[in-house]
Amino acid sequence: MNTTLAGKVALVTGASSGIGEATALALSAEGALVAVGARRADRLETLVHKAVGEMLALELDVTDQESVRAAVAKTVERFGALDVLVNNAGVMLAGSIAGADTTEWTRMVETNLLGSMYTVHAALPHLLERKGAVVQVSSTSGRIASAASGVYAATKFGITAFSEALRQEVTAQGVRVVVVEPGFVATELADHITDPTMRAAAQQMATSMRTLQPEDIANAVVYAVTQSQHVAVNEILIRPTDQTR
Ligand code: NDP
Repeated sequence: MNTTLAGKVALVTGASSGIGEATALALSAEGALVAVGARRADRLETLVHKAVGEMLALELDVTDQESVRAAVAKTVERFGALDVLVNNAGVMLAGSIAGADTTEWTRMVETNLLGSMYTVHAALPHLLERKGAVVQVSSTSGRIASAASGVYAATKFGITAFSEALRQEVTAQGVRVVVVEPGFVATELADHITDPTMRAAAQQMATSMRTLQPEDIANAVVYAVTQSQHVAVNEILIRPTDQTR
């Protein structure tokens, strides 16, 4: 086991699958104590058994401020501090603007944007105390919007705006803010798209290229949070080599 993060405590949201799961395992492999949050508690229990070191499963719904505050409190109660927040929970319910089911817009804004803001709000006092780091999982959609991803992109652009404001507020106090912007990663994210045409398009895209794997993003997170305290890696954009746009 590596020890670059020995003595550090991390909280990863959206850790029941995909990027969050891989990131939690990668941080654990570097020696961190890791709390993992998501709604599917059964998946988290399975993850805890795969971890190298100590891992704490927390049932968490990031759209619920009480749930978020409780998850942060339980992390600190169990491990004594919080050094790294990986704000990763998200949904991508792709679809056109015209005729959209706007309850899906609400879900995306509440999960990806407000949920991520609530988590920063709850974690920040602890991160300030430890001169910690916040990793905000955005997307290439946080830089370039495209048809059928308007609201998803709006949430990810929102994360970028919030993160830059946060960076300006806390960097002088030693808290580092990292925005990670993945391109296409092979996870279950697109399986939750309700529009069959959009879901098929995402599946087609996945088979048309060598996609990134969740571990590729986890490696980037580990890179960012293991730099010396005076080095702030603020933004990492990672696309599959085969992804054109
Ligand atoms: P997954 O669907 O595998 O993971 C999404 C995670 O978010 C799950 O663990 C899910 O857990 C969790 N989640 C969803 N809603 C909530 C909620 N209300 N409260 C708590 N957790 C929640 O997809 P990815 O790993 O791909 O996605 C992770 C992040 O990466 C997202 O923010 C996504 O936008 C971003 N991303 C992904 C890309 C890709 O190509 N895959 C590209 C760019 C960015 P549960 O359902 O158990 O609550």
